Amino acid sequence: MDIRITYEDTGTVEIAQGEAGINYGTASMSTYNLLNCIAFGGRFDDGLRNGIFLTHELPEDVEILQGNLLLIREALRGITITDTVLFRIAPSQAIGDIEPYIKVLSAFSSDLFGVDPTIRIYECKRNAMRCGEASITPRSMTTSITSLRPDKASFIPLYCTDNGRDILIKCPECGSVSTKFIHSFASHRGACDNNGKKPNLMSLPSSAEGLPMCRVRGGTRKKSLRRSRRRRHI
Ligand SMILES: [Zn+2]
Repeated sequence: MDIRITYEDTGTVEIAQGEAGINYGTASMSTYNLLNCIAFGGRFDDGLRNGIFLTHELPEDVEILQGNLLLIREALRGITITDTVLFRIAPSQAIGDIEPYIKVLSAFSSDLFGVDPTIRIYECKRNAMRCGEASITPRSMTTSITSLRPDKASFIPLYCTDNGRDILIKCPECGSVSTKFIHSFASHRGACDNNGKKPNLMSLPSSAEGLPMCRVRGGTRKKSLRRSRRRRHI
């Protein structure tokens, strides 16, 4: 894992899920599609060099995030970190119990950087396909809500049902239907562009009512989306 180093004084450096970066200069940094993910940022200034850093990971990938923070600390060796911020989804909107990850990361970063992180809470408007965005500049650290955008790592699926109760996801490109809920939708047909991407479940409906019917290939499903919903993350 590498840390992206930039030297921008204008505009915004965007950090996608799985990325981490440091910007020396006065530009801002932001995440996009921050949906259940944790972003951790900070500002540094020791009189000689100043700027900001930002990471963006799934809560369950907290160890990767910690690894990135270690690399950032190493890259900023000898430079004072003035303050840090942990962006997280509102507890009522979190998918699964992410509190242990928040605790681990808070304690880890306090030790590493010598400052306790400010916690910034973001919310999603799932019906409107809008979710959180973490944004930091050398002067401020804020959250806002932005429209969900497709990215390299995810695709926006269609939803259907085969029995009127369980929600299934369908690839809009190749038409294949999930047989159970999984992060990496592995069963695309042929050379589908969405191979290896995660389904972005921003617009997951609350029930199967009114969804179009779809047929699952290859017989019976072992596990429904509904029963495994607690595992969904983007
Ligand atoms: Zn596909």
